[in-house]
Amino acid sequence: MSERRICIVGAGINSLVAANYLQRAGCQVTMIERGSKVGGACVSETATVGGLTHEYALGASVLGLMQRFVFEETGLSQRLSTFVPTHPKIIHFAGDVEPTWIYRDATELDRELADKWGERGDVEAFRADEARVVSYLQKGYRNARPPSLDEARSELGASLVELWITGSARALLDHYFTSERSKIYMAMTITESGPVPLDDPYSAFTLPLMDSGSIFDGYYGFVEGGIWRITETLGELNQDMGVSIHLDSTVVSVDTTSHKVVYDCDRREHEVRYDKLILGTDPVTATKLVGNAEQVESTSQLKFRGSSGKLNLMFRKPVRWKHGSDAQDSDAAFRFIFDVNTLEDFERAALAVIDDKVDYVPGYMQIYCEGAAMRQLGREEPFDRLAIFFKNFSLANNGSSLPETAAISRQKVLSYIENPEDCVWTRMLTPKDLCELFHFPGGNLDHTMLTGGQTFFDRNYSADAGAGFYRFGMLEDVYMCGSATYPCGSVAGTPGYMCSEQVRRELR
Ligand SMILES: Cc1cc2nc3c(=O)[nH]c(=O)nc-3n(C[C@H](O)[C@H](O)[C@H](O)COP(=O)(O)OP(=O)(O)OC[C@H]3O[C@@H](n4cnc5c(N)ncnc54)[C@H](O)[C@@H]3O)c2cc1C
Repeated sequence: MSERRICIVGAGINSLVAANYLQRAGCQVTMIERGSKVGGACVSETATVGGLTHEYALGASVLGLMQRFVFEETGLSQRLSTFVPTHPKIIHFAGDVEPTWIYRDATELDRELADKWGERGDVEAFRADEARVVSYLQKGYRNARPPSLDEARSELGASLVELWITGSARALLDHYFTSERSKIYMAMTITESGPVPLDDPYSAFTLPLMDSGSIFDGYYGFVEGGIWRITETLGELNQDMGVSIHLDSTVVSVDTTSHKVVYDCDRREHEVRYDKLILGTDPVTATKLVGNAEQVESTSQLKFRGSSGKLNLMFRKPVRWKHGSDAQDSDAAFRFIFDVNTLEDFERAALAVIDDKVDYVPGYMQIYCEGAAMRQLGREEPFDRLAIFFKNFSLANNGSSLPETAAISRQKVLSYIENPEDCVWTRMLTPKDLCELFHFPGGNLDHTMLTGGQTFFDRNYSADAGAGFYRFGMLEDVYMCGSATYPCGSVAGTPGYMCSEQVRRELR
C-alpha cells in the first residue's frame, strides 16, 4: 500500500472498528476525539449513592447487532465475557394480570400468542421469512457489499423484497399477524430510533435490520462490567497495535486539497496529514467539516428526530420481580411494558411527539436488567441496576425538567417489583439530553431516522454510491462511517467495518 496514513474523526464504535481493521491491514491510523474518553454514545457514567460509587451505561446498554466476526477479528472476544438471557422475554400490557412470554421456540411462541393474544396468523412463517432476509443481510455485511435492490430481488425474490425491504411496516404486520398485540410488539422495533409512521415506505426494513446481529444469533445480551467495555477495550486493543488516539481534541477544519486536518486541543491548533480521511461522526458535523454549501443544505433537510428516553435506576438490594419463573436467569430476562392496547394508539403516541408542544406520551418501556446480568457473569456489585429504554418524548425538554414524568415512569416499573423501597437512585434522559450529551442531531440513536430515503441503499452520503458507497460526496479520499450510514446505528460497528473494507480496496 503506497497511501497509508488514515485519519479518523471521532472515536465512537464505528470509528474504533474501522481503525482496528485498517491498522491491522498495515495502515497508520490516527483518531481524533472531542471527548475525554473513547466510546461516543457507548460510555459509562458514575453515580454516587450514600458515599458508594457505581458505573452505569449512560447511552447504549445491550449488545446484539454486532457481527460475530467483528467481535472475533478485532480481538474483543479474547478479552470480554458476555451473557445472553435464554429466559423468554416477559411482556406486560396495561391492565393484564399475567404477562405473556415471548419464547425463542417458534411453536411454543405460536401457542402462547394464540392463548394470550388470540393470535391466528403465522408466527412460524414470519420467523422463517425473516431468517432468509437476515441471512441475506449478514452475507452482505461479511463481504462488505453495499445493498442494492436488484441483488436483493435476485437473492430473495420480488415478493419478499416488497414485503420486508421496500414495503411498509403495516403491510408486513398485516401479512403475518392478526392480533393487535402481536402487531404492537413487532411495531416497537419500527419506532425504536424515531417516530416513523407505520405506512412509510421502507419502514418494514427496520424489523430484519434490527434482528440481523450475529454475535448472539439475533438475540441481545450483556457484556461483563457493562457495554462500554466494548469501546474501552477496542480503544486499548487499537492502541496496543499502534493506533494513535488524541482525546479532548476537536476537529475544527479539514483542507481536502492539501489533505490536512486541523484540531483544537488545550486551546492550541494542531495538524494531521492524511492519505484517507474517515468521518465517524454524525452527518451534520461531517458535512460542516468537508461539505459545500449545497451539501450543508441537503443534510439539513434529512429527518433526524429521535423520541427515545432512558431511565437508569439503582437498587441497594437485588430487584425481586413479581413475575418470572424458577429458571436461574429469570431475573435477567428482558421485560417490556406497553401502555397502549391498539396499533392505532401505539402509532398515535409514537407520532404525537413530533410536536414539541407535547413533552411525553406513554408508549412502551424496554427493561434491561443489567445488575442481574452482572450476577450471572459472576460479578458482585454495590448496587443492582436497571436500564430502561422508553417512549415517547419530543425534543422540547431535558429529563431534569420533567420530574413528574420521571416519577411516574419510575413508579410504573416499581409496580412490577416486590422491593420498590430498595430503589435509591434515578436518572432520566430525553432526546434533548441525547442531543446535548452525544451530539446526536435530533436526539436520534441512529443519527438519522430509519425511513424511506434514509435506509437500505439510500443510507449513504456518496455522490456515486455505486462507485464508492462510503465516500463523502465526490471527494475521493474522504469517507463516512458513522451510524447514519448503512446499515444503521447500534453498538455493532458494521458501518465502520464495511467502510474500512472499501478504504482497503481503494488503497490497493
Ligand atoms: C440512550 C441510548 C441508548 C442506546 N441503546 C443502545 C443499545 O442498548 N444497544 C445498541 O446497540 N445501541 C444503542 N444505542 C445506539 C448506539 O449507542 C449508537 O448508535 C452508537 O454508539 C453510535 O456509534 P457511532 O460510532 O456511529 O457514533 P458516536 O458514538 O456518536 O461517535 C461519534 C464520535 O465522534 C466524536 N466527534 C464528533 N464531532 C467531532 C469533532 N469535530 N472532532 C472530534 N470528534 C468528534 C464524538 O465526540 C463521538 O465520540 C443507544 C444510544 C443511546 C443514546
